[in-house]
Amino acid sequence: MNDYEKLAVILEEAALEDRLADEVRKLRESGKYAVELIDTLLRPDKSPLIVQIKKSGRIPDISCLFDAVRRDENGNLVITSECTGCGGCIDASNGALAGRNDVLPLIETLQKREVPVYAMIAPAFSGQFGPEITSGKLRSAFKKLGFYGMIEVALFADILTLKEALEFDRTIQSDKDFLLTSCCCPTWVAIIRKFYAQLVSHVPPSVSPMVACGRSIKKIHPDAKTVFIGPCLAKKAEAKDKDIADAVDTVLTFKEIKELFDIAGIDIASLPEDDSDHSSKAGRIYARTGGVSEAVASTLARLNPEKNIPLTAAQGDGVLECKQLLSDLTEGKIKANFIEGMGCKGGCVGGPRALIAKEPGKENVDRYGDAAPFTTPVDNVHVLELLRSLGFESIESLLERDSTFTRTF
Ligand code: SF4
Ligand code: SF4
Repeated sequence: MNDYEKLAVILEEAALEDRLADEVRKLRESGKYAVELIDTLLRPDKSPLIVQIKKSGRIPDISCLFDAVRRDENGNLVITSECTGCGGCIDASNGALAGRNDVLPLIETLQKREVPVYAMIAPAFSGQFGPEITSGKLRSAFKKLGFYGMIEVALFADILTLKEALEFDRTIQSDKDFLLTSCCCPTWVAIIRKFYAQLVSHVPPSVSPMVACGRSIKKIHPDAKTVFIGPCLAKKAEAKDKDIADAVDTVLTFKEIKELFDIAGIDIASLPEDDSDHSSKAGRIYARTGGVSEAVASTLARLNPEKNIPLTAAQGDGVLECKQLLSDLTEGKIKANFIEGMGCKGGCVGGPRALIAKEPGKENVDRYGDAAPFTTPVDNVHVLELLRSLGFESIESLLERDSTFTRTF
């Protein structure tokens, strides 16, 4: 553990025991930890996504796809606002950099109990907290921590699957047409926007399932706070994008929430099942490379079995493959008409803050997908009910611009 991680544990323990102010005073007086690190943990909203634990000294040169790592005139590292949170620099930094920890203010919000706080768990959660940890047990654990409820973002991946399938059906009219899915990975979207702006017009105007989930909760419960939990650092940056900043109040990683469960002494395995979500296979498999393509293809086949142009998919797996795929696309070398990119190798199950290796992560996600009561959202009565409660009277109305699921790139 580096100093930043150690400090996070000390302060989270103190916050849970209602003695945070005392602990902060003691730590400041002791001089054992840098004041900036304490401040970063207390006010993560004022801190950059990539925290500098060491600013100078033996810090290797770090390459950044987005050119966000620079050196100032004194040779100190500077992370610019172009950072997308892909996390690539952290492992290469020899302990100089860390991903921002956003836990402390959340503990305060949960303890105050003034507003309902919803946990939105990423589709990659299957098996991350142990083989016996089901969605129902995880919901119990979040409630024990003080959350009002837990929602599987897979349910909103279902809705985005419907939207992408409808967009495909409308847009793809000849063998020259193609779509780049916008719908889940912010690193993929950032690569397109930064390096292949000429392709942006092929990206459907859809928000990610995380944003769809946050906005829907706030539409139904306007005073609610929303917390996304996943294996991803880039989602912390996505949640702050100006045009969608209304949706998600806090983004935590699986590692941050696991640590919080441990510090709070919550044994998830011993808790009762508390079931309520009914996502389809389509939404559940978003967490691995190829999942979005498979979900949209099966949903399209269900929506329009007579479609004259079949969906043919190509995937970029990890940032290098994503860049290569987009480059090949601009040179006319790709014949596929549905292009999916995942910034991490394996997809979100290979995310930088996953708790288990990507191979068992993928197996768990596929198993959970196969156990779903519905294959596609078209047949999922729960998705259709949810859409109606959000004001969408038909599946087709998802093609109209709206303030919940639409985003302009
Ligand atoms: S997180 Fe990614 S985008 Fe941000 S500085 Fe590090 S390598 Fe660059
Ligand atoms: S693939 Fe990686 S960067 Fe993209 S959403 Fe998943 S965890 Fe985040």
